[in-house]
Amino acid sequence: MFLKEKCTLCGECLARCPYLAYPLEEAKKEFSRLMNGEASSVTSRCITCAACNMFCPEGANPFDLINELQEKTGTFKVAEQSLAVMSIAPTLPSQVIKGEAGKPAINLCAVGDMIPGVIEGALFEGLTQIKGGDYFCYVGWIHVGKPGMVADHAASFVNNLAATGAKEIICYHDDCYAVLDNKVKEFGIAVPFKVTHLIEYLRDYVKEHAGRVRKLNMKIAYQQPCASRYTFAKDAILDDLFERIGVTRVARRYDRMGALCCGAAMAGMKDMPRETTEEWRMKNIMDAKEAGAEAMVFLCPMCALNLRNRAKARGVEPYMVSNLVRLALGEELALGGAGKKFE
Ligand code: SF4
Ligand code: SF4
Repeated sequence: MFLKEKCTLCGECLARCPYLAYPLEEAKKEFSRLMNGEASSVTSRCITCAACNMFCPEGANPFDLINELQEKTGTFKVAEQSLAVMSIAPTLPSQVIKGEAGKPAINLCAVGDMIPGVIEGALFEGLTQIKGGDYFCYVGWIHVGKPGMVADHAASFVNNLAATGAKEIICYHDDCYAVLDNKVKEFGIAVPFKVTHLIEYLRDYVKEHAGRVRKLNMKIAYQQPCASRYTFAKDAILDDLFERIGVTRVARRYDRMGALCCGAAMAGMKDMPRETTEEWRMKNIMDAKEAGAEAMVFLCPMCALNLRNRAKARGVEPYMVSNLVRLALGEELALGGAGKKFE
């Protein structure tokens, strides 16, 4: 939620935006227009990466205002295909595959089948698996300029998860965690189960099974999902996990505060030239390569689908984060690091 009373009109949000990069004085004027409900090109040009929520020194959540205005004004134009994908997600068949009593459940949301060979091995033995449209959090709708869908469905999302009877639910999809850890507070929704992020689950697992871990001695670049802008505190847990499995997260321009969208949000914008999207994807991968990364690590399956081929083609091996942990536990990755065997 945009917190108007916190905004000092400093312009940092739009000046630091990597995609719009307004000169500071212009950024101040443009944000003032948004605040006053006046027309601004920001609503049609913003690619919905949510980064400015972190750039704001006052914690005013400027992206939430931009996104709200994108919906209200209809100035954010989305490709039909992108809307169709978002509309399919809630209709996917839902399933609860019971695991062992006393073990947590993992919510695979509507994205569990996107990257095969990820939720496998000792890490996930005995967990109840929850998946399908009933357990879709709608955060993806932010990227089609319709944040109202997240608010409208948050209560049923929480209720459907609660109805599974799980006492603890691990979020595979970063988007789901953004709702359960952050957005519910804004919406005044109580969550009647423990919420654990996949990163936290993986970190705790390697901590408890330290004797089985063989250090990978690998330099990696991390692709941070846009939804992590809502739950950035877990980044320290990710660093801890990487250290425990012998992975060095290279310092690079496009990580943490400076992370870029994988390109999915841009590609879904109706009037965005394909070349521009491609240019940003390449900037991201080349930044990783130039920083010395041998591998690119993904948390979000959508990010992996968007960047794995491009990374591999430039000599940067793609991995889903859980597969990197499986590797450190000595497991074979029959389907490759990110669900695809490259010849
Ligand atoms: S959400 Fe991303 S693209 Fe949009 S204004 Fe903020 S930083 Fe820029
Ligand atoms: S939202 Fe934050 S960064 Fe943007 S103008 Fe207001 S105070 Fe500055």
